[in-house]
Amino acid sequence: MSVIYIRQGDRWPEGVSDGLALPCAICGNHTNIDYGIDDDVWRKVVPESCRRDVVCLGCLIIRAGRGLVAESLRFVQITFPHMTIVCEEPRVFVYNYLKGIEPVDGQD
Ligand SMILES: [Zn+2]
Repeated sequence: MSVIYIRQGDRWPEGVSDGLALPCAICGNHTNIDYGIDDDVWRKVVPESCRRDVVCLGCLIIRAGRGLVAESLRFVQITFPHMTIVCEEPRVFVYNYLKGIEPVDGQD
């Protein structure tokens, strides 16, 4: 893990989110999770009218399915006031059950 302190006047690091001001174009919720996904998956599952907007990870998972998102996710960034946590090469665990509840047949 590395910690990088950015001081006023420093150049902002390329590709690092400084927060998502816009709500999700599909559900309208504000999210503090930014992510990168393969372009072909983005074009396949996000309506053309929303591709230049924010689509939250939850809505993306609903549209694409857990498996496709898990296989296509490149990074996750969690933003807070004055702090961004960058998770590169995220580890994703996909499961179709909840502890104590029978497995569910899903789309994945
Ligand atoms: Zn959403």
